[in-house]
Amino acid sequence: MFQVNGWDAPLSGEEKETQETESVVKALRVDPKFKYEVMDSPGGETLKLCFQCGTCTSSCPIARFSRSYRPRHIIRMAQLGFKKAVLSSATLWLCAACFTCTDRCPQGVEVSSVLRVLRNIAVSEGFIPEAYKKMVENILSTGYAYRIPKIRFKKREALGLPPLPKGRVEGLSKVSAMTGFSGEG
Ligand code: SF4
Ligand code: SF4
Repeated sequence: MFQVNGWDAPLSGEEKETQETESVVKALRVDPKFKYEVMDSPGGETLKLCFQCGTCTSSCPIARFSRSYRPRHIIRMAQLGFKKAVLSSATLWLCAACFTCTDRCPQGVEVSSVLRVLRNIAVSEGFIPEAYKKMVENILSTGYAYRIPKIRFKKREALGLPPLPKGRVEGLSKVSAMTGFSGEG
């Protein structure tokens, strides 16, 4: 690729393909220590026990409605050390923590807990979906996951409904200060 007057010249098909391949390879870079990082975290210890039977995926209510969410894949990728690919994947956040997979895993893999550990590591590495960041910001500032529009308060007033209870954000602010987590990654 070359630059003309500060503008990137359009990429040829071949260059585009090379760039895409490079970014995929970069995303798939293997970190052989990743599985130990997961297994050293409370809840992640059973990662190594998975033998890829697929019971978790076939039992998962989210996988039933998603073409991309496959807990078995996530577990395998974590075992193999595809750290960045796992942590940056939006599908990691689709888990509903229903524990069906954990109950059914023949190997005793705490699938739901392993996924929680992966999400925690994702947060500590700055991989947080925008929607969750927004939710945390809202909770910390209002006590509600959803920022209620002013018009709703007015409507309630007009209808003679009592005001909504104020969210108690003091405790949450303390947790935020202690953990350094404010939703801003
Ligand atoms: S059910 Fe357990 S052993 Fe089977 S693929 Fe899922 S985590 Fe692995
Ligand atoms: S805990 Fe998550 S991965 Fe396991 S079955 Fe429920 S939604 Fe699926």
